[in-house]
Amino acid sequence: MTSLPIAVIGAGIAGIACARDLAAAGHAVRLFDKGRAPGGRVATRRASLPDGTTLRFDHGAQYASARDPAFAAALRAAGAAPWPDATRFVGTPGMSALGRALAEGLGIETLRDVRAIEGAPGAWMLRHYDASLLRPGRPVPTGVEARVDGPFAAVAVTVPAPQALPLVADLSGAVGSALRDIEISPCWTVMAAFPDRLALPDWLRPGDGGTLGWAAREGGKPGRDGAIESWVIQAGPAWSRQHLEETPEQVGPALVDALAARARSPLPAPLHLAAHRWRYALVERALGRPCLWDPAARIGAGGDWCLAGRVESAWESGRALAAAIMAG
Ligand SMILES: Cc1cc2nc3c(=O)[nH]c(=O)nc-3n(C[C@H](O)[C@H](O)[C@H](O)COP(=O)(O)OP(=O)(O)OC[C@H]3O[C@@H](n4cnc5c(N)ncnc54)[C@H](O)[C@@H]3O)c2cc1C
Repeated sequence: MTSLPIAVIGAGIAGIACARDLAAAGHAVRLFDKGRAPGGRVATRRASLPDGTTLRFDHGAQYASARDPAFAAALRAAGAAPWPDATRFVGTPGMSALGRALAEGLGIETLRDVRAIEGAPGAWMLRHYDASLLRPGRPVPTGVEARVDGPFAAVAVTVPAPQALPLVADLSGAVGSALRDIEISPCWTVMAAFPDRLALPDWLRPGDGGTLGWAAREGGKPGRDGAIESWVIQAGPAWSRQHLEETPEQVGPALVDALAARARSPLPAPLHLAAHRWRYALVERALGRPCLWDPAARIGAGGDWCLAGRVESAWESGRALAAAIMAG
């Protein structure tokens, strides 16, 4: 076993699964994420009403389906509860609790945006920055200092494929060219709270290719405080793509209108309305194998985009990547 640590970039479910298996096998692992907390797209957003009431919205993954009993067991151990049926699970009291619990003991370095992998195979260095000083996809502003960490025996990149590409393209031709084929669609997600209960079921997925992709009442899920009528409303992929560059102020009312159309009556004016754009949300064209690993470069990549846009696929990919790294 090598004495140098292994770096994992991205503490979404794939990165967490990869780091857990490496650590369990006795490897030193360092896990970096540009976000404030582990979990990636398995996330919960908090908001406050003017009277101080806290609202919570699962604005990313709505649930994790678990076909593999071992994954179901890991979810249960992380405090997940079945919803909306016995094969699907939500974190309690919110989806973000899953990432926190699954990553327990891994010592994640949060708010670190990795912008470059430097050095040579077997002795890689990571150049990373305080994520709160950077804007996604934009060059590093002058005056923001880098931290360079390493050397690392291997690097596992578990971020969405389009974000992995600039990190690895010059270091592994094989990994880089596979990443170019992946397609991931965006998703506009609206978080809305209302003064009254809406005349709608706890969740709906119209499946008609229209504006609305999915909507769910937060209080309908287990372990939530349902005092305030709060909804997550997701646009379908085609609508999200068409309206990608619109502002949250434009998208919020449009998706509330789409929900009102389902309720077949106007909705009360929201107490709270916000929108989040997931630029890389749902996998449309996957790799078709569980991970990428270049043994000569000692660089690998994984994530949901390897198999399918599902939390369980991210988990499976992260575990496969750990196994590939350990196999050499
Ligand atoms: C709106 C929405 C709804 C969804 N609904 C469902 C659902 O109901 N059921 C389901 O199974 N799946 C759902 N999914 C998909 C599911 O969330 C993903 O498949 C899964 O969470 C992907 O995990 P991941 O680890 O591959 O990637 P991510 O969760 O994207 O994790 C990648 C991590 O890398 C970090 N990162 C990125 N770049 C860098 C960098 N340069 N430096 C450091 N860190 C970096 C990010 O901050 C992030 O934490 C949904 C996704 C979205 C967006």
